[in-house]
Amino acid sequence: MFGSSSESGVDWGRYERLLPREIEAIKAARSIAYLPWGALEYHGTHAAVGLDGLKAHGLCCALAAQEGGLVLPPVYVAANTIKTAPDLSFPQHSLDFAESTLIQLAKEYFEQLADEGFKVVFTLCGHVGQPHYDLLKAVAAEANQHYADTHFIATSETDLVPEDLFIVNHAALGEVALLMATDPDCVKLDRLPADRTPTLEDDAVWGPDPRTASADLGQKFIAGFITGARERIHAVYPPSP
Ligand SMILES: [Zn+2]
Repeated sequence: MFGSSSESGVDWGRYERLLPREIEAIKAARSIAYLPWGALEYHGTHAAVGLDGLKAHGLCCALAAQEGGLVLPPVYVAANTIKTAPDLSFPQHSLDFAESTLIQLAKEYFEQLADEGFKVVFTLCGHVGQPHYDLLKAVAAEANQHYADTHFIATSETDLVPEDLFIVNHAALGEVALLMATDPDCVKLDRLPADRTPTLEDDAVWGPDPRTASADLGQKFIAGFITGARERIHAVYPPSP
């Protein structure tokens, strides 16, 4: 997942890697900024702490390769991580920021991307801890009131992949399969206990057993995500005929 035009002829690219001429050409073809919003958060002994941002960035690149537009680098500033979850004890390997910092950062990202003239800002929240996720949605809703020429979407793969295919989870089957598809070197399933089913309390795994995950399954989730995400984008920004 590097750089510009995909095989399908769709113009897309990773914003930080591009020069102004390429940015302008892609934006003229499809004026969408994809903003992957991740976290640095403990995801068990078996997955990288950047899972949420890596996943969101990988999904945005796969989406942009079909839809067109520019993918920004992931934001790794999150509130309400597992570090602060009451009843759980995972004090390390998470950077937890204040909700006020999150809100301010989202406001400024949206302001800047509106100022850059994007028609759609598609924020993909890889971390759906609460109220973190609802706060980003609320800032996006506020921005929609404020900026007339830009439409802001804040969503997550959990809201876009069909429910029969994917359930909300933390470091479990869904997230791990996605990470195996986008960043296979960031998963080590053999670090999980061999003699018992992983649990939330002991292993930070919430959801179906990640040991049945595979990159193929992750690709199925990605395909479902792309269909759902494109419908969402086309509802506010139809593709030109
Ligand atoms: Zn996660």
